[in-house]
Amino acid sequence: MSDDYAKAIPIPGPESLPFWEGAKNHQLMLQKCSDCAHHWFPPSTVCTGCGSRNIEWVASSGKGKVFSFVIFHKLYHKGWDGEIPYAVAIVELEEGARMLSNVIGIPVEEVKCDLSVEVVFEDATSELTLPKFKPV
Ligand SMILES: [Zn+2]
Repeated sequence: MSDDYAKAIPIPGPESLPFWEGAKNHQLMLQKCSDCAHHWFPPSTVCTGCGSRNIEWVASSGKGKVFSFVIFHKLYHKGWDGEIPYAVAIVELEEGARMLSNVIGIPVEEVKCDLSVEVVFEDATSELTLPKFKPV
């Protein structure tokens, strides 16, 4: 962990703050609609399923499957120097929400759709933790 993290990092806003606070505590938080039970990501002020504003934050199981992915073979940001190729995936969590992240811990050629994965937390800086996914 270092405060001079070389990659671009997200800047938490008011809507996403509970997500980032959860990540810092190594818990994957999602919004859930109290009316229709829909879960979604990224955070918003209304349910993306039914439009209700009756929403809450809940802890995800952190388990899911690779819905889709790409492998980056070219260096687009110097922070990734030494890490290419790397996998960027849309992970569909058990709760139904889809999240963009990295699949780590396996050679990129083994990343495939429907691969079972679970969240792991990378403490990027003293203030920011990034959820990533590894094979189960
Ligand atoms: Zn809803």
